[in-house]
Amino acid sequence: MGRLWIRTPLAVFTANDLDAAGGVVVENGRIAELVPAGGAPAAPCTEVFDASEHVLLPGLINTHHHFYQTLTRAWGPVASAELFPWLKNLYPVWARLTPEALHLASTAALAELLLSGCTTAADHHYLFPGGLQDAVDIQVEAVRSLGMRAMLTRGSMTLGEDDGGLPPRQVVQEAETILADSERLIRTYHECGEGAVVQIALAPCSPFSVTTDIMKASAALAEEHDVRLHTHLAETLDEEDFCREMFGLRTVDYLESVGWLGPRTWLAHGVHFDDDEVARLGAAGTAVAHCPTSNMRLASGIGRMLELEDAGAPVGLGVDGSASNDASNLIQEVRQGLYLQRLRYGAAAVTPERALGWATRGSARALGRTDIGELAPGRQADLALFRLDGLRFSGSHDPLAALVLCGADRADRVMVGGQWRVLDGQIPGLDLAELTARHSAAAARLISG
Ligand SMILES: [Zn+2]
Repeated sequence: MGRLWIRTPLAVFTANDLDAAGGVVVENGRIAELVPAGGAPAAPCTEVFDASEHVLLPGLINTHHHFYQTLTRAWGPVASAELFPWLKNLYPVWARLTPEALHLASTAALAELLLSGCTTAADHHYLFPGGLQDAVDIQVEAVRSLGMRAMLTRGSMTLGEDDGGLPPRQVVQEAETILADSERLIRTYHECGEGAVVQIALAPCSPFSVTTDIMKASAALAEEHDVRLHTHLAETLDEEDFCREMFGLRTVDYLESVGWLGPRTWLAHGVHFDDDEVARLGAAGTAVAHCPTSNMRLASGIGRMLELEDAGAPVGLGVDGSASNDASNLIQEVRQGLYLQRLRYGAAAVTPERALGWATRGSARALGRTDIGELAPGRQADLALFRLDGLRFSGSHDPLAALVLCGADRADRVMVGGQWRVLDGQIPGLDLAELTARHSAAAARLISG
């Protein structure tokens, strides 16, 4: 590819104050320049894409998921359960996960995300039953085959049912195994710097599924290798009670006690924080992945995202695992985040731009990246383009508001690092019908045991 001008989009969201009404110029996998309203590129282009029917966004960034859960979407026994009983019922099913099923689940989740405009996806994988020691390696392969970027987190669980935890014994691991594999994955796959495709982070599942030693050792290992830390925190009031009983501390106090309260950490959910905790998380620069659909589906609560953001905590957006969403659709999640936060703060405080900001710039900050998440010269050419030509948009007026409020659900074109990965709403080279058939069959086998 030479120099491509994506010319005069119908509307553009840059996630900053820069003017790109005339489009963006892409060269060598990066954004070479932004073209202001009525302007033209400073240097000649070899190719022009007319974007006059497209809304242009930075590629969306998902900060929390569990790809494997696409195999247990809308499972009847937990379709109307809250977090703890939901987990208790699902763990024995998930314990049967196989390498082939995980590969299909990861490909399905990533493809669904990509088609929704997502270019970078984080996954939190903490299930390593016998035969699945290479779970993260399997996910790396799926990410590479779709040409996306990913932050794959090496999760862990050490507290089984016998130790007062929730998961069955066969899915928990020994501390030495977890730490040795974490180090292996960082050395094998973690890329640092601009344009990184695969990154690794360390991610004990939650305070109620690992020992204090694992939390501390993960923080030390992350510091040593300069990788990020991730965990579930303050998702439900049950968890708050568990933390008090087990450790005699509230969740953020516990986080601080194990050396996690800092800018290296991003937390999934962060629903139940008091005023003091919001201020401390903000001052520490600890990020939160807001997962609105999951929080509504499991009736977990409404997080304080505007206050966290205003206090200094980066806020990103996550679809969460597909057993609690049950979709991996990030542009739909923007709409969900806007609506849920409006219930707390009112309509005027949560604009479409603010919600899109969580899925782009906010998510990039949550993952510790400065090279993606906004349209600006020098950033990676990760772009999502949406058409507003379906019936659901008919009669709409403001294109950017229509994208979010009318419920866009599929991108027309998606670019990652200068390469088109979605064209005309399709992923070139991926047989979606075949993937769906194989993924559905694997899901049926998993449930039937
Ligand atoms: Zn989760």
